[in-house]
Amino acid sequence: MKNLLTLIIIGFIMTVSVKAQEVRFSQDLYNTYEQYRENGIQHKRFKRSDIEPLIEKVKRNKFFNVKTLGHSAEGREIDLITAGKGKTKVLLWSQMHGDESTATMALFDIFNFLSASDSLDPFRKELLSRLTLCFIPMLNPDGAERFQRRNALDIDINRDAVRLQSPESVILKGVRDSLKADFGFNLHDQSTRHSAGKSFKVASLSFLAPPVDYERSVNPVRERAMKVIVNMHDRLSAFIPGHMAKYPDDFEPRAFGDNMQRWGTSTILIESGGWHTDYEKQFLRKMNYIGILSSIFSIATGSYDGLSIEDYYKIPDNADFIFDLLLRNLTLNVKDSTFKADLGVNRFEAAAGNKPYFHGLIEDVGDLSTFFGFEDYDCSSMEAFPGKADPTVYKDLDEVKSLNFLELLKKGVTAIRVRKEALKGRYSFFPLNLIGVDENGNPGQPEGEFKPGAPANLVIYQNGTARFAVVNGFIYDLKTMSNNVYNGLILQ
Ligand SMILES: [Zn+2]
Repeated sequence: MKNLLTLIIIGFIMTVSVKAQEVRFSQDLYNTYEQYRENGIQHKRFKRSDIEPLIEKVKRNKFFNVKTLGHSAEGREIDLITAGKGKTKVLLWSQMHGDESTATMALFDIFNFLSASDSLDPFRKELLSRLTLCFIPMLNPDGAERFQRRNALDIDINRDAVRLQSPESVILKGVRDSLKADFGFNLHDQSTRHSAGKSFKVASLSFLAPPVDYERSVNPVRERAMKVIVNMHDRLSAFIPGHMAKYPDDFEPRAFGDNMQRWGTSTILIESGGWHTDYEKQFLRKMNYIGILSSIFSIATGSYDGLSIEDYYKIPDNADFIFDLLLRNLTLNVKDSTFKADLGVNRFEAAAGNKPYFHGLIEDVGDLSTFFGFEDYDCSSMEAFPGKADPTVYKDLDEVKSLNFLELLKKGVTAIRVRKEALKGRYSFFPLNLIGVDENGNPGQPEGEFKPGAPANLVIYQNGTARFAVVNGFIYDLKTMSNNVYNGLILQ
């Protein structure tokens, strides 16, 4: 009896000390991140040719083994980078969807971390002696080239796990089968506007231990993945409390995550979501770095095994309660009617070449009191009118540049007319939309509307004075003109 008690106490102390060690590790990762951050990647729209020199750097480092697994449909290389000699095999693949690049950035930070030598060596030693880590950064280089979800065959690789028609799918399945990986990390990005359950907090990271059948059964393979997620959620709660959720667990028989789990690899899906002002996903890159390293440390020590899957179910589900901009309690003036409503506005990313710009659209109108906005304004006692076009036709952009934008916005103008031949492209760096006009006539500004799907162009008045303007979904404070986004559209 006494011996049993002693064993229980020793077990308890060991559990506590492993946890303390894990907490310290993730905190150290947070504090020292800048030392390891791969500065060769600074924004999310990089391509295979941009990571080529980084892969070369990894190749020169005898610490890693780099092998070309094969080529994408358009002939771009797909590499496997291996580190460590441990018994437990962990396979991590990123950017199966070409426009989901956050984790790829984190993987290059992780390579820098793993090959360094400093006071964190005891953690590295633990990781690399117990695990064999196999990374595929950027599984879909053709999609990354275009910053699009699908590959060059226009196939969604994540619906090709069974039919295996894309070379990228064949490569991933082949690696899984030859390694018989114990754990898999399936690294994606999701919408930046999911919320963590009903909270007014954005889901910055969402996790899933994909199901193995329609009944969402929990077999031992899936159970391990759930426990690793519980550990990751605990560790990251120190940095983004309340900002994590669970991805929907509908079974998708064609997806890689679900099939990996069926094939016997405990698979953890990480979806990078939104973080206000982190448009280039650099903060979420850091959270991926900490989340992945903390998780594999827990796999190395085996600590995840003591966690409860009940805590997995307690993580809130992904939900949709967020707008980029929410204007509450506005009095809207539309044609002959006046009524009170909230306006939810979202901005959708598009690209002209490599440069992103946005289309701001009204997403919803009415009682939106159950939602919240990244930018959230109470407009009680304010009224809104659709934006107008200035009647003058300007010759060129030099004339436009010399205008007093603030004065125009204060007059309720959200668009100006410019000779068509002076306009190029789809967007401008002005806080106004530009309408192209040819010599045959004047197309006029389409009447601004307050309805879902309409462009978000309006001016908001308080006591008869223009207080805010919304142009292409971006809000300008007309007292301070503090917003300097300046992303107007060119309308031809
Ligand atoms: Zn994805």
